[in-house]
Amino acid sequence: MTKKIQSAVIYRGPSMIDGAPIVVIACKLSLRGKANRKTGEMVQTYILREDIHPTVAIRSGEDASICGDCVHRGDGFEGRTCYVSMNGVGSVFRAFIRGSYPEITPEECGRIASGRMVRLGTYGDPAAAPAWVWQGLLSEAEGWTGYTHQWRLPQAEALKGLCMASADCPEDAELAHSMGWRTFRVAAPDAPSVGRETVCPASEEAGRKLQCVDCKACSGSTGRRGSIRIAAHGYLASEKNLAALQNRIAVRLVA
Ligand code: SF4
Repeated sequence: MTKKIQSAVIYRGPSMIDGAPIVVIACKLSLRGKANRKTGEMVQTYILREDIHPTVAIRSGEDASICGDCVHRGDGFEGRTCYVSMNGVGSVFRAFIRGSYPEITPEECGRIASGRMVRLGTYGDPAAAPAWVWQGLLSEAEGWTGYTHQWRLPQAEALKGLCMASADCPEDAELAHSMGWRTFRVAAPDAPSVGRETVCPASEEAGRKLQCVDCKACSGSTGRRGSIRIAAHGYLASEKNLAALQNRIAVRLVA
């Protein structure tokens, strides 16, 4: 019996952000193991520098190739507010370097993951890879979630139907809405809504009543309206990190 492919490289080429070499690796192509508490059991995708360990790239700032100008990057690890745990990301990169993953086309991968829910950018911004990679991967998917901080860039336009614009403040959300994006916004629990927003049902404040795998709301503008918000928690709980994040947002708003 042929062994089922669990993970595969589906793109190896230039970053759409700065042209540096990157890879997209799809993991959890078969259902097994532990599911993420918020998302449920989904195909996961990692967008990584091909040539640099992810934590080294964060320290040197070369993670810009896969995360662009996301305000959660921080200065190396100083003030970093990205919620992604780097242990899992490092494991994926090491397995890639060992040659553990076959290289297949996004469409082949889409067939293997047929009927599954897919998370675009478990680590890394989907806008770092060409849109055709995601379109191929999602060709037979039941649904997906995707978020991009690169929604201001012209090349992100092709992702409008697939991804939510990540909004870090009300000004971001208003601008993104005016550009035709649906948004996913992290906000203080008592902050007023911006436009038509509903609370993420996987959030603590909504009673964790649904996981992404069943909700499927964060899939860009295709067939959906309205935006999503969630209360700041966990990785933003530290006052120091929150202050650093607000500083970075303020600098960007002035620029
Ligand atoms: S709104 Fe739905 S799809 Fe989006 S993060 Fe929350 S549970 Fe997941």
